Amino acid sequence: MPHKDPPTPAASAVDSEEELFTAACGHARQAAVLASVESLLGWDELTLMPPRAGPHRAEQAAALAAIVHRQRTSPEQAERLARLSEGPLGRDGPAEIAATIRLLKHDFDKRARTPARLVEELARTCVEAQQAWASARAASSWVMLEPWLERIFALKREQATCQLPDRDPYDSLMDDYEPGARWTALAERFDRLRAGIVPLVQRCVESRNRPDDSILRRSYPIAAQQRFVHEVAESIGFDFDRGRLDTTEHPFCSTAGPDDCRITTRWDEGFLPTALYGVLHEAGHGLYEQGLPRQWFGLPPGEAASLGIHESQSRLWENLVGRSEGFWEWCFPRAQAAFPEALSDVDAASMQRALMAVRPSLIRVEADEVTYNLHVMMRFDLERGLIDGSLRVADLPSAWNDRFEQDFGIRPPSDADGVLQDIHWSGGLVGYFPTYALGNICAAQLMAAAEGAIPDLWQSLAKGRFSPLLDWLRSAVHGRGRLLDSESLVEAATGSPMSEQWLLESLERRYGKAHGFG
Ligand code: ZN
Repeated sequence: MPHKDPPTPAASAVDSEEELFTAACGHARQAAVLASVESLLGWDELTLMPPRAGPHRAEQAAALAAIVHRQRTSPEQAERLARLSEGPLGRDGPAEIAATIRLLKHDFDKRARTPARLVEELARTCVEAQQAWASARAASSWVMLEPWLERIFALKREQATCQLPDRDPYDSLMDDYEPGARWTALAERFDRLRAGIVPLVQRCVESRNRPDDSILRRSYPIAAQQRFVHEVAESIGFDFDRGRLDTTEHPFCSTAGPDDCRITTRWDEGFLPTALYGVLHEAGHGLYEQGLPRQWFGLPPGEAASLGIHESQSRLWENLVGRSEGFWEWCFPRAQAAFPEALSDVDAASMQRALMAVRPSLIRVEADEVTYNLHVMMRFDLERGLIDGSLRVADLPSAWNDRFEQDFGIRPPSDADGVLQDIHWSGGLVGYFPTYALGNICAAQLMAAAEGAIPDLWQSLAKGRFSPLLDWLRSAVHGRGRLLDSESLVEAATGSPMSEQWLLESLERRYGKAHGFG
């Protein structure tokens, strides 16, 4: 990049290509700054906002969404991007600059085709629907949520046809999270994954040598958990001077600025993994956000490649590091010091093995690493039906329960344990679920490449030295921003085209060993 400093809006009329590029970047960055305020309000809504503040927050969200949308679709920016993409920088400029122009134009055109009325209505409806979801889930009452999902899926179908009219509507929605992804290719990938996972789950469940995970269900006082997980997050590299950890019902990571990454978790005194793996997961997202080139905040070189790549970072730390023998060699003495009563008769090896137990269960966010992908693939199929019209919202609970029974052999006893468990659909996040399984696929492939690139990786992790792995991820993934799409990024980082084979091999090797058949 020729610009050493982050671009700022040009004060006067622009002439040269360079000045035009600087002005376009400055404009886009300004929109990203406004959007980061939206993100902060969203964080507050789920973390601190009092229950009755919802209606006014919905107005704030809609008002701000309208301002951000105006900024993102301004005629001056349309003109700049049109000139740039036709000009020498866009056509034959340095690869990074040409990619930045192409991505800014893609995003701009998508938004410009979506009417402001729809953007505002979606923002307002989603805030209110998320409040309705929280009440509906608490009461396990589908009818409290149903009218909201009717409205949201109608609005999402409209958004899909507006923003990328030439694409399949589901692909159009996925483009917000996984740019360029096609559901047909993803469905084939998932079929191959499923064909490996279903028999693996079966072997784990039928194993006579299943890990004993009862030690995880002892008493782990919350105050001690809070100190412990903070230490773990800090040790793997999460920078608490540029981020914070709070408590929410549904853990998440959101970014309110280049030096302001918010992660959340929930606490369960009777089950240590809830908070520990919630934090390892969200801190993995946080490490990615904190590793993006901060001088390019809000512009493609400083943005995450996709949500699938984002999820690869969280899953890598949560599962591939956090459930490994090496990690527990380092972590166990710290856990024992934090929970002396619960862990007095336990050793590192039995702790690590307990964390590998596979058991079909109702709730996605509490699922083990192997069955997790089945939860995701089921939602991918259901939401596609809701978008293409083959499934009606009214029929969703029964479709959910039937499919769940077919995949897991259990029928959810209530809607709270079934169709009401996730916040995504009420938050307007449609086309988002497949990025979770994609993240698992990429995580395994990236970890295999890191093992090849760092010869003493596991010895380092066992000593609590996480920086060789983090440094590798910084240069292979974080530092590249969004200039490559996820398939190209994975190939550039690992030297092989993206494949689910690494994940299947990793699951079979690690879970086979933990269940006595590997
Ligand atoms: Zn995640």
